[in-house]
Parts: sequence; structure tokens; C-alpha cells
Amino acid sequence: MIIVMKPGARDSDIREVSGVLENAGLGVHISKGMERTIIGVIGDKRLLSSIPLELMQGVDKLVPIMESYKLAGRTFMPEPSVIDIKGVKIGGKELIMMAGPCAIESSEQIMAAARAVKKAGAKFLRGGAFKPRTSPYSFQGLEEEGLKMLKEAGEANELLTVTEVISEWSIEIASSYVDMFQIGARNSQNFHLLREVGRSGKPVLFKRGSATTIDEWLNAAEYIMSEGNYNVVLCERGIRTFETATRNTLDISCVPVVKENSHLPIIVDPSHAAGKTQYILALSRAAIAAGADGLIIEVHPSPKAALSDATQQLSPEAFSSLCKDIGKIAEIVGREFKNDSE
Ligand code: PEP
Ligand code: MN
Repeated sequence: MIIVMKPGARDSDIREVSGVLENAGLGVHISKGMERTIIGVIGDKRLLSSIPLELMQGVDKLVPIMESYKLAGRTFMPEPSVIDIKGVKIGGKELIMMAGPCAIESSEQIMAAARAVKKAGAKFLRGGAFKPRTSPYSFQGLEEEGLKMLKEAGEANELLTVTEVISEWSIEIASSYVDMFQIGARNSQNFHLLREVGRSGKPVLFKRGSATTIDEWLNAAEYIMSEGNYNVVLCERGIRTFETATRNTLDISCVPVVKENSHLPIIVDPSHAAGKTQYILALSRAAIAAGADGLIIEVHPSPKAALSDATQQLSPEAFSSLCKDIGKIAEIVGREFKNDSE
């Protein structure tokens, strides 16, 4: 349920209503819009039955929330969320670029990748240390040793870092090394893990599962948020369809659909969608044109030698040229993207 306050409601009215709700054991989330304030109520709605909310000063109406997800939904929080991670804002006017190799392979490799992506305009360095590979015999990642390299490369180049976590123990290990956790497609409905990253309090880059509907995805985001962690950034990375020309099918339509139904920022991963370097520029352009808040792109200093996802990792040169291109699209759609050419 949300409580819509009247346009002229005073701060003291808002405080009064919030106080009554909190005293009844309910959680409160206040969204101050240009015209009105909306108070979201979190908890068992039966606790509301004895409170005459409609009669309180400044209250306009009570609106039940129909969606099964509420913290992730627009009804509850009508204004777009801007997630601030150490001063880097995701979901604001500026487009945010995250880039780096699929997996951290050595300190030289991650350092070279970091230097290149920073120069091109990235704000986050990505790199997998726990790799959920399709085959158990493929390279599984350097784990903690890799995370040390990631942290060092991030710090040396003033980049924030993001890495995938796959279990409770990996959350524990990664937590002191990175600024943001990634939940990968394969774990997108691992509800126990989602609650765990929710409890960790660290910002989460939450990828869509390859066979997850938008509704299921937002419900899954609710698991993270229901633990009190609202710093969630959604990431579309392609879904499984009958088409085999690309690794997955990038669902561009999910960008406006998510924007309509959720206040959470959404970025796009064209690398895992395309699976092939030659399509990444086109998909990146489309994502930004459709309203995405940024991109996450795999970049490797020598892509052909990569230990995972070799066919989809961009060279530093290709990435730098993509960033220049994105700068131009950003302007057309009223966003900003700063890269090395400026
Ligand atoms: C990755 O980002 O390296 C990854 C494994 O992505 P996804 O979960 O989207 O497949
Ligand atoms: Mn990958």
C-alpha cells in the first residue's frame, strides 16, 4: 500500500503519518516528488486496520499495490532511483560504462585492461574471479588471488570494481575487495543467494536470467531489496530464444518495459547477448538509444588468448572506438558520456 499525500501537505503531516506507521511496527519509505509526497508502507498490511489514515492531516488517498513486487516497483517509488556508489551515480543523466575482461587471468592482464578501459571512459572495472562455466572442466577463475589483482588494478586506475558472486563463501571473500557484487544470469532466481547479497548491503548488479520474464526478474530483485538493500542495478544480457546466430537474443524491449514498471536503473550487457565481437557496437548503440543507463562490456588486452568468452571480448582499440560512438548517441538521447576524446 502507498499513501499519497495532498499537494500542499506539510512536512509535519508527513512526519505524523510516518510516526504512526512506525509505531504500528511498519516500515516506511518516503518519495518526495515535485508535487506530492508518496509514503510507501512496508510490512503486514493487517497492522494498518486500526489506523484511520484517511482522516489524518495532509493525506489524500490510500492506494493498494497490485504488483507482487513493491520495493522494485514504480507505484511504491515513482521517481527513478539513482544509485550512488562512492560518488559514481548510476541512473542519472550520465551514462555509466563498466568494462574489463570476462575473467581475471593475471595481474598484468587485469592491469592492462584497467588502463585501457579507464582511458576510454569506463567508471567500473569488471572481472570474474568465480566463474560459473557451462562445463566443470573449463577455467573456473582465480578466486581470492584474482580479487586481489582486481582491487589493485581498480585502485591504480581510479576505477570502481564489480565481480560476480555465486555463493555465501564467495560473498564473504569478495566483500573486502570489490565495490559492487554481480549476480549472474545463472543465479538470477537463486532466492537464497539473492537474500544473502541483500543482507550484505553492497550494491548489486543484477543480471536477468536467460529464461526469466521481466516480471520474474523484478520479483527476484525484490528478494534483494526486501533485505533492506535498495542499491540494485538491473542488467539485461540477452535471453534464450530459437535464434542461434547470436549467443542469446538481446531483449531491447525490456529497457522501456523495465523503465515503466520499476524505478531501478538498468544497464545492458551486449557482450553476453551477442557472443561475437562484430555485433557488440550495434547492440550497444541500440541499448543506449532505447534508454539504458549504461553498458557493461567485456574487454581483454588480447582477446584471442582469453581463457573464457574469447569470441566476445573487445580489444582496447575497439572498446575505445565504441565509447566515442556512444558519446554521440548519448547526446541525441539527452544523456552524457565523457570519454578520452573530450
Ligand atoms: C559474466 O558477466 O561474465 C557472465 C558470466 O555473465 P552472465 O551471467 O550474463 O552469463
Ligand atoms: Mn563472460
